[in-house]
Amino acid sequence: MPEGDVVYRTARRLGRALDGRVLTRSDFRVPRHATADLTGLTVLETVSRGKHLLTRLDGGLTVHTHLRMDGLWRVLPAGGRTPPGDLVRLVLANAEWQAVGLRLGMVDLVATGREERLVGHLGPDPLGPDWDPAEAVRRLRASPEATIGEALLDQRNLAGIGTIYRAETLFLARVWPWRQVGAVRDLRGVVELAQRLLYANRERPSRVTTGDPRPGRDTWVYGRAGRPCPRCGSRISRGEMGAQPRERLIVWCRRCQPEETAG
Ligand SMILES: [Zn+2]
Repeated sequence: MPEGDVVYRTARRLGRALDGRVLTRSDFRVPRHATADLTGLTVLETVSRGKHLLTRLDGGLTVHTHLRMDGLWRVLPAGGRTPPGDLVRLVLANAEWQAVGLRLGMVDLVATGREERLVGHLGPDPLGPDWDPAEAVRRLRASPEATIGEALLDQRNLAGIGTIYRAETLFLARVWPWRQVGAVRDLRGVVELAQRLLYANRERPSRVTTGDPRPGRDTWVYGRAGRPCPRCGSRISRGEMGAQPRERLIVWCRRCQPEETAG
């Protein structure tokens, strides 16, 4: 699933193609908005909020999209062919570019003043202008019995973390993924670490959490289950946690992130 860094870069890419330009075509291929037509409206900006994208238009309208598991936005020259088939959910085109949303998990059209109904539940966004680590900690602490692994993925606590940043953050912080939030000694440190990892990758085309972009060395534990831990050499474990079917994967080192050590 695309995490906050990918969504952030997607917003920037959409911004470069659409901002300040008049839409010459819109094509909503979702039943709810099939008749919507945004032709003639100017795109003001696209911003990311966690894993959500908000494309704001003049006239007080916002197009809300979410990539969910494997959605993506492709930006193509306006004169080219729109990708065929049933994967397309939305096309926003101007005289130069067409932005094509494929396999989007959510497509909504709302009044800009009512965006909060869609994203108001989200916790602070580590890549947002209003990032507030103290507020993220406060929200996490509100459920002290939740496991830290599940709590980091709950977008109401902080918005943008998925399975990759969860695994990397907890490894670096040496915290057992099933530790209860209330038992994590340096919760603020965990939150700030997650933010630093996301922030460092916000402009990168590929994700690197180790400082070493070489394949197989670009993450500490994620994607490396069964291989030696880069810190202690013991075999990296892989398991499942949480109820969200596609977000259960957890990868960790039993020796570096032991049950008994208060993280
Ligand atoms: Zn280890």
